[in-house]
Amino acid sequence: MNKIEIIPLGGIGEFGMNCMGIRYRDEMIVVDAGMGFPEETPYGVDISIPNFDFLEEYREDLTAIILTHGHEDHVGALAYILKKYNLPVYSSRFTLALAEKRLEEFRMLDDVLMHRVEAGQSIEIGSFRIEFIHASHSLVECFSLAIHTPLGTLIHTGDYKIDDTPVIGKPYDLEMLRRIGDDGVLALLCDSTNATVPGRTPSERAVIPAFEEIFEQAEGRLIVATFSSSLHRLQIVIDIAHQFGRKICVLGRSMQKNVEVAEEQGLLKIPYDTLVDIGASRSLDEDEIVYLVTGSQGESRAALWNMATSTYKGLEVEKGDTVVLSARIIPGNEKSISRLIGHLYKRGANIIEEKRRLVHVSGHASQEDIKIMVETSRPKYVVPIHGEYRMLFRQKEFIKNHVAGYDDDNIILIENGDVLEIDEFAAKVVDKHELHKTFIDEESLGEIEYDVIRERKKLAYGGAISLVVTVEKGTHELVGEPQVTFQGVAHIDETNGFSEHARKAVVDAIGDMKREHILDRSFFKENLRIQLKRFVQKELGTKPVIVTTIVEV
Ligand SMILES: [Zn+2]
Repeated sequence: MNKIEIIPLGGIGEFGMNCMGIRYRDEMIVVDAGMGFPEETPYGVDISIPNFDFLEEYREDLTAIILTHGHEDHVGALAYILKKYNLPVYSSRFTLALAEKRLEEFRMLDDVLMHRVEAGQSIEIGSFRIEFIHASHSLVECFSLAIHTPLGTLIHTGDYKIDDTPVIGKPYDLEMLRRIGDDGVLALLCDSTNATVPGRTPSERAVIPAFEEIFEQAEGRLIVATFSSSLHRLQIVIDIAHQFGRKICVLGRSMQKNVEVAEEQGLLKIPYDTLVDIGASRSLDEDEIVYLVTGSQGESRAALWNMATSTYKGLEVEKGDTVVLSARIIPGNEKSISRLIGHLYKRGANIIEEKRRLVHVSGHASQEDIKIMVETSRPKYVVPIHGEYRMLFRQKEFIKNHVAGYDDDNIILIENGDVLEIDEFAAKVVDKHELHKTFIDEESLGEIEYDVIRERKKLAYGGAISLVVTVEKGTHELVGEPQVTFQGVAHIDETNGFSEHARKAVVDAIGDMKREHILDRSFFKENLRIQLKRFVQKELGTKPVIVTTIVEV
C-alpha cells in the first residue's frame, strides 16, 4: 500500500502525553514520547504515558525516535518506550541532555544510542529524510520537523510560537520553512495549544518591563516561581537581578538541574558571583536576594508550596516578601494554585500573577502565528495536533475562515488511536483504535495495569466487602458462620440486621449449591461472590468490590 500513515498515540484531544507514529510502507518513526498529567488524578495516579503496547504490531517497522524538544510532555515517557523498543534517539544537544538525566534515573543510559542533531541539518533514516527546523518556544533548542517521504513532505511543528525576538537563540527559522514550502508540503501537523487565542503570541521579551518594575518596587525578598524549563524567563530574571544588585538562589530539584545543564551548555548566561546557595542567601539583606523556585502550579512537593505552608530547608515565606507567579495555569491545576495563593496571603506576602501584570507569555502559537505557519509552508492538508479537541476544532475553524484555499476537505481532525492515511490524492482516517492510557506509580516509577486503576475506582465508589467462608476439608460442610465485613460501603443499616441477612444469604446460597460445585473451590468461590453481589445490589443498590476467601480446616 503506497500511503503515509499518521498514528497519534497521545496529545491529540488532550493536554500532554504527545507521541505520534509516522509510517511509510514497513518503516515507522516515532515523534516525541511525552508524559501526561491526568487532570482528575484518578485514584492515586499523577502520571500517565501513552500505551506503547499498541506499537507491538509495528515492532519490526520501528526505526527511530525523534524528539522535538525537552518538555516533559514530549520526552517524559522516553524511558518507558525505550524499555519496550530499543531505538536510536535523535534530537538537539539540550533536549538530549535533559533526556539523558531522565534515563540515568532508570539506569538505561548505556543501552541507548543518542544522536545529536542541529537546526538546519538533514538526516536519513531509511526512506525518511528529516530536516530539523529551528523553532522558537518557551524552551530552547526546539525543532519543527520536515519529514520527507517518497510520497511527499510532512511538517510536524512540535511546540512553537513565532517569536521574532527570543531572549536565547534565534527567531523561528521562517526562511527554511518557506524554502521547504516552495518545494511542496503534503501535510502540516500543527500545534493547537493556543489556537483559541486571537492575535500573535507576545515575544518572550515582553515580560521584561513588568519584571523591571517589580524589582524596582520590591523592598523585601523576591521569590519568582516559574517552570524550570522556561529558560528565556530564567535568563530575564537573572539579568534583571544582576542589574538591581540582587543575588540569585535556585531552589527545587528540577530547577537546579535545568540551570546546571543550560549553563554548562552556554545557553544561560549567569554573571560571575551571582548565584548563591541557600546558606549564603540567609546572610544577605532582604533586598539583596531573589529566589528562583519550582512550584508555580501549586505542586505539593515543590519548593514554593513548602515555603508557603511549612518550611523549605529552613526557609519560609514571610510578611514583606513579594512572590511572582510567572507561569500559566495548566488546566487541572486551578484548585491547587488557588490553595497555594491562599497560603501565601496568610503569610502576608505580596503576590503578583499573570492576571495582574505581564509576568508570563505563552510558548505556543496564537491564531496569527498559526496563519503565518500555514501561509509560509502552504501545505495541501492541515492536521491540528497538540491540544484538547476544542483547540483542534478552533484551529480548523480559524484556518478555514482566515487563510485562503482551506476548507473541510483539507483540514483533517484526528484523535488518539486513529490511523490517518495520506497521499497526494486523499487524506482520511481508515481505522480507529481504543487506546487506554498507561498509568505510572510516582514512587516506584513502574507501570500500573489498567485493571488496577479500574479496581481502585470501584473501591472508591462502592467500598469493599470481605467474605470468609470456612469448610471442613473431608466433608466439605460449612464450619461455623460465614464472616462478612464491610469497608466504606454506603447505606448499611445495622439496626435492621444487615450483616445477619447477608450471612444468611450466603448460607442459603451454599445450601442450594450442588456438591460438585462446592468441591471445585474456584467455582465455589466465584459463585459465592456472585451470590453476595446480587444480594447487596438488591438490598443497597450499590456495587462494592467483593473479596471472597475460602478457608479449609
Ligand atoms: Zn513544549
